Amino acid sequence: MESAILVLNAGSSSLKFSLFDAGAPGVLSAVAVGQVEGLGTAPRLKAKGPDGQVILDERRSTTEIGNHAQALQEIAALLGSRFVGTELVGVGHRVVHGGPEYSAPLLITPQAMQELAAFVPLAPLHQPHNLAAIRAVEQARPGLPQVACFDTAFHRTQNEVAQLYGLPYEFYERGIRRYGFHGLSYEYIAATLPEVAPEIAGGRVVVAHLGSGASMCAMHNGRSVGSSMGFTALDGLMMGTRPGNLDPGIVLYLLQQEGMSAKEIEDLLYKRSGLLGLSGIGNDMRVLQESDSPRARLAIDHFVYRISRELGGLAAVLGGLDALVFTAGIGENSALIRRLVCQQAQWLGIDLDPLANEQSVARISSVGSRVSAWVVPTNEELMIARHTRQLLGL
Ligand code: ADP
Repeated sequence: MESAILVLNAGSSSLKFSLFDAGAPGVLSAVAVGQVEGLGTAPRLKAKGPDGQVILDERRSTTEIGNHAQALQEIAALLGSRFVGTELVGVGHRVVHGGPEYSAPLLITPQAMQELAAFVPLAPLHQPHNLAAIRAVEQARPGLPQVACFDTAFHRTQNEVAQLYGLPYEFYERGIRRYGFHGLSYEYIAATLPEVAPEIAGGRVVVAHLGSGASMCAMHNGRSVGSSMGFTALDGLMMGTRPGNLDPGIVLYLLQQEGMSAKEIEDLLYKRSGLLGLSGIGNDMRVLQESDSPRARLAIDHFVYRISRELGGLAAVLGGLDALVFTAGIGENSALIRRLVCQQAQWLGIDLDPLANEQSVARISSVGSRVSAWVVPTNEELMIARHTRQLLGL
């Protein structure tokens, strides 16, 4: 391999990476994927090759890997030793927030970094880590081209009506608006549909990205017209540890009547709610599906109920529905969740093919189904690699 693109996805306690062969013309393929997890507590470096075989799985001390810069050094050392002679030609980053304007990826410059830093208050739990990874690369390899790919960008096609909240208009002007997230996943699906499902690619499609974070996007002709997530990634569907859509009066009540601090409420909303909070067991859908606890079943039923409500709302935004697409960890793997959602959506014209659903093949609705249902695996890293290659003219 002559040249490679590195894709980085920095979270609060992890740095995920994928290395893509940038030399081969046409299709980009990942030659290594992995992550440093447990940053700050119990760092662990894991990496796999293209066919899933484990290259490395090592625990390290917090003095060896204490921050994103050190995590990057470890990743660089690992990749450098495995891919001797390969030139790194660019780095693409997943950056959660691109603010109200950015609707496309951005080449990193000192001025761009200042602009992205201005969005930190909009995503205080994610944006600082994304920017830390960019700085770490600049420190290690000054001048290496870097590209920021935003989770909000795909939704910038939504009209003003869809992006508003019913607050005084000056709040909208101050940036309090519905941004939507998981945009790189939706963009990948939009780019993939013409190949895997050409009959629906130009139509009215709702995509359900159901992972530990979960959201839904209404697409018309491959463009976002509505999303379940809003100002932050707390809105919309119930998720692994987040409650999703919540009466804002509850937050006021917790502050004023129960005396909870803002920090405690943040912890409740990001880490202790959702499937975990309702079930009392965990946030892993596989565990809940296998449990006989009534609370696990209640959590699953509420998860499905919220998807169903949101589906009805987004179908209304689209003025009808041609297809429903499932993606991400739960959407791609849980036949149970897909079956329950599709059963509840019979009124919309979805008729599931039970066998196709069990096998997770692309089309999972019956031949005669008026509205079709699909499983389409997402690949946010590949989307970032494509953007990076394109923007750098490689
Ligand atoms: P993220 O990238 O946001 O961490 P993923 O898209 O990997 O999330 O999805 C994680 C979720 O997918 C977890 O809730 C996990 O339980 C669920 N999941 C993965 N495989 C399966 C499966 N076979 N059946 C049901 N749920 C699954």
